[in-house]
Amino acid sequence: MPPPPRGPRQTGLEDSARRSLMSLIFAATGLTIGGFSILQFLADNALFASVELLVCAALLWASRGIYKTHHLELWIYLYLVPVCAFLVYITLMPEASSSAFVWTYLIPLLSYLLLGKQRGLRLAVPFLGTALLLYYWRYPLPQTPHAMIDAGNAILCGALILVFVHLYETRRAVTFSQIEHQAQTDPLTGVASRGHFKQELLRALQEAQRSDSPLVLVLMDIDHFKAVNDRWGHEAGDHALRHICDLLLERLRVTDTLGRLGGEEFGLLLRSTDLDSAKPLVEALRELISSHPLHYGEQPIALSATFGLAQWPQDGVTTDELYRCADARLYAGKQQGRNCLVSGNLEMRISDTLP
Ligand code: GH3
Ligand code: MG
Ligand code: MG
Repeated sequence: MPPPPRGPRQTGLEDSARRSLMSLIFAATGLTIGGFSILQFLADNALFASVELLVCAALLWASRGIYKTHHLELWIYLYLVPVCAFLVYITLMPEASSSAFVWTYLIPLLSYLLLGKQRGLRLAVPFLGTALLLYYWRYPLPQTPHAMIDAGNAILCGALILVFVHLYETRRAVTFSQIEHQAQTDPLTGVASRGHFKQELLRALQEAQRSDSPLVLVLMDIDHFKAVNDRWGHEAGDHALRHICDLLLERLRVTDTLGRLGGEEFGLLLRSTDLDSAKPLVEALRELISSHPLHYGEQPIALSATFGLAQWPQDGVTTDELYRCADARLYAGKQQGRNCLVSGNLEMRISDTLP
């Protein structure tokens, strides 16, 4: 599996895919049970019909709620365990035919779809094993060659479904994680891509709101980068971008997110950090860049960057407001001579103000 983007944490692409799948499965199951409830009403079975109607309503409600819940795993198990138990029970229903066991083939499909490879296997195998035992407890063991062939067909078919679903899910998970990695990562520097950074900003802001903890967004733009390209070549410029990311990642915490927003502009997300703690850190990053030229070719290439800082919630409540504030401050830093950080309406270079 590919490593996650350098610096930033994983996103919820897989998570949102599972939520929409769950939503579909809830809705499909709910509507199916709703259909059965109508049949029960028509058959004058009011009690069953009412229970099925309630289950139908609960599942339709859950198909919307699944997008918001913080307990996705719990919801999945709350759905899967009763459904798998019911699929096993179908084989034992008094009026069930001897072919009703085919419903148990849905168990590995549902488990793997919703839980993935390992947990899907752990849930499917005990249910399938139980189904097999109960089936032969209810029906006599096959005695004739014909009955043995029938039993062999049924068991082999179930086992093959399990194996194929397992192989398919293994490949799907690897491919998904490769695609996710590509979407989340800037190919040149290995830090978070623009889209991923924006997602992380939104998520960090929601977390900050929940926990009422501060958050600082930093926008950084490399100074006179066009001149670096013009003088040393585009290749040198690419090396400079990677070099600066390496320097920044050395100093950042694992909970911080570094993203490339475009060209030579980067974003930095400092979680659980207020402006007073962010300023010395960003000043250290500024200093790190300006004191570590890129060694490429004959001569060292001097580099520097300008930073604009904005704190949630003082400087902006939404991601857009925060972004606009940090961007305006970055622009102010450029106007004031570059190689500095701006965190308020007044320009400041912390190294000038610290004792
Ligand atoms: P300022 O200090 O005002 O930010 O000046 P600047 O030269 O850095 O800004 P400007 O926007 O004029 O130029 C940005 C340059 O960044 C121009 C573009 O060629 C270069 N650039 C953008 N993306 C890449 C890249 O992926 N690799 C390289 N080597 N250069 C890039
Ligand atoms: Mg620039
Ligand atoms: Mg720029």
